[in-house]
Amino acid sequence: MMMMMMMIMLYQSVFTMSMMLCQPSAKCVYDNNDLIKEQHDDVSLGQCWDMAKVNKGGFVVDHGILYHIDKVDGQRVCQLCVPTSRRDSVMRLAHDSVFSGHLGERKTRERIRLSFFWPQLRQSVRQYVNTCTE
Ligand SMILES: [Zn+2]
Repeated sequence: MMMMMMMIMLYQSVFTMSMMLCQPSAKCVYDNNDLIKEQHDDVSLGQCWDMAKVNKGGFVVDHGILYHIDKVDGQRVCQLCVPTSRRDSVMRLAHDSVFSGHLGERKTRERIRLSFFWPQLRQSVRQYVNTCTE
């Protein structure tokens, strides 16, 4: 069972890395180790940490980093749990694409969900897209 879980995690990280080439990703947002500290300090991620401790809600901790396992378009994805302070950067990267211009709410949300998670994501994205003035 443990071995199976490890295999899934390994597969997930490879899958996530391959997506980083064309997706906004942790690498775009972070260039140091502040991530883990910010995840712990963020009150809005408190429940996620609690659930990860009891293996509930799809939350997992890998190398100290909090992730959420979800399904997007039938694919299992490993989403980085984003602290509040970084959510605007993630939304900007997903919404304001060099190649496709400013995406609508649904497409922006779908792009984010391939790599990222945070509570109330749907509402945040709606607000961000609706208030984008560029
Ligand atoms: Zn826009």
